[in-house]
Amino acid sequence: MEFKETINFFQDKFNSKDFIPLHAPVFNGNERAYVMDTLDSTFVSSVGAYVDKAEQMMAEISQTQKAVAVVNGTSGLQIAMQLAGVQRGDEVFTQALTFVATANAIHYTGAEPVFLDVDYDTMGLSPKAVSEFLEEFGEKRENSAYNKKTGRRIAACVPMHTFGFPVHLDALMAICSEWNIPIVEDAAESLGSYYKGKHTGSFGQLGVFSFNGNKIVTCGGGGMIVTQSEDLGKLGKHLTTTAKVPHPYEYVHDYVGYNFRMPNLNAALVCAQLEQLDTFVANKRTLAHDYAAFFSGQNIKFRTELEDTQANYWLMCVELENVEERNAFLKATNEAKTMTRPIWQLMYRLPMYQHCYRDAQKNAEFLEERIVNIPSSVRL
Ligand SMILES: *Cc1c(COP(=O)(O)O)cnc(C)c1O
Repeated sequence: MEFKETINFFQDKFNSKDFIPLHAPVFNGNERAYVMDTLDSTFVSSVGAYVDKAEQMMAEISQTQKAVAVVNGTSGLQIAMQLAGVQRGDEVFTQALTFVATANAIHYTGAEPVFLDVDYDTMGLSPKAVSEFLEEFGEKRENSAYNKKTGRRIAACVPMHTFGFPVHLDALMAICSEWNIPIVEDAAESLGSYYKGKHTGSFGQLGVFSFNGNKIVTCGGGGMIVTQSEDLGKLGKHLTTTAKVPHPYEYVHDYVGYNFRMPNLNAALVCAQLEQLDTFVANKRTLAHDYAAFFSGQNIKFRTELEDTQANYWLMCVELENVEERNAFLKATNEAKTMTRPIWQLMYRLPMYQHCYRDAQKNAEFLEERIVNIPSSVRL
């Protein structure tokens, strides 16, 4: 059988001949105690001590001023872009090599995604692609950047840290600040990942994390907006909680707000899981180290973190030689009950984003044909 040694290695690492998932959650800390506590207190819903605690913990972990707990990462991205000033009819830079939520969140704001290429090494938005686009189409008007071909404002730039590998943030920050384009980091996959010693999500005007079931830390469903701006954080909290003006009994609302709150029940899980984040990352880094050693010298390339970064190794991945090898690998591993998955289809292949602008996408198309996620769970 093809890839037999590799399949044996997965089975050995996960000590299983049965189904091996890509990423299974682990609830070995205070999860039960905290969830029971919400039930005992009856505060399971939109107010409760765990929501405040989860926000404090996330601000601390992400090295930001303010964190706002939301119902999921996608809604967090939508609100973060709104807070960054994105409006109907604007354009927003992002990568085509991402999970569909990034593009959907842009669409929800009424803006259009502009798909720019990723770097080969980070698999995330390429500062060079951003800079080339701006050189060709960019125009500075007053305090904003415009696309002189479409006449639309370029309102934000949304890089995504693919599988927890940080993008080239220094270069991206430099070009975006030159053009006065706010950055909203889609850090949904990069909780526990650092760039030059600073946590991802803390570089942009805003950053967004996800606690979906398959992420490194999960609460069933949930997300967190983080920012260095106290004001944006306060406004974010207000907008995601129906924009209710404090009053002892009257219902007064001063914006079209959203019910994007994270329930206290989920926040209890976030707190218990965050307590274990360092352990989870360390555990995954050990596995990454073993994978790197195993695949070294093979024609299957294990993707490792770049210099100056520390990756959380959320979903680990290998690069196959070509699409035929990739297909053979996917077939053999899945038939052997070890779960592997190809990287996402590029966003402009999906019917709703086919009409959007995209550049040459050389790296994105190369990676789309070759990258495969392999079993990455925390091992007990
Ligand atoms: C998981 C994920 C999201 C969305 O998070 P949800 O909590 O599932 O809404 C957004 N972007 C990326 C890149 C993701 O991986």
